[in-house]
Amino acid sequence: MVVIGLGRFGHALALELVDEETEVLGIDENTEVVQALAGSLTHTVRADSTKEDALRQLGVHEFDRAVVAIGTDLEASILTASLLISFGIENVWAKATSEAHGRILTQLGVHHVVHPEHDMGQRVAHLVRGRMLDYI
Ligand code: ATP
Repeated sequence: MVVIGLGRFGHALALELVDEETEVLGIDENTEVVQALAGSLTHTVRADSTKEDALRQLGVHEFDRAVVAIGTDLEASILTASLLISFGIENVWAKATSEAHGRILTQLGVHHVVHPEHDMGQRVAHLVRGRMLDYI
């Protein structure tokens, strides 16, 4: 499994996958982020994921599952997702920070688009409602 973008979301996701015995290649362009996770993931590499050559050198095109965990930088998210799709990776997941972002990722052919903040808001609503029922 490849996780691209090791911010709060990608970092948590990658560590959870490692805990479940999944081998994880983590990629981020920020040296400090990569250093902070070195040793915790199977491999951690500094690279710009919008560059096809960089991804190929890392063998990303040979994986069958990849997650684009870049959110705020819309251009980087879209370019990275587009490369992963063009590699023919069977299971591409990507995080979207808005409905429009999610729509573009789907149009590119991303197989699973997640909206963490939106989805977590809905989950917390269920939890809050459940908790509130305890007091009725
Ligand atoms: P989070 O909420 O998970 O912290 P975010 O959406 O606020 O994420 P972003 O700035 O989009 O944060 O990026 C998440 C991570 O992706 C950062 O650690 C950033 O260095 C990395 N990143 C951004 N662009 C690229 C790129 N082109 N190549 C590799 N890593 C990238």
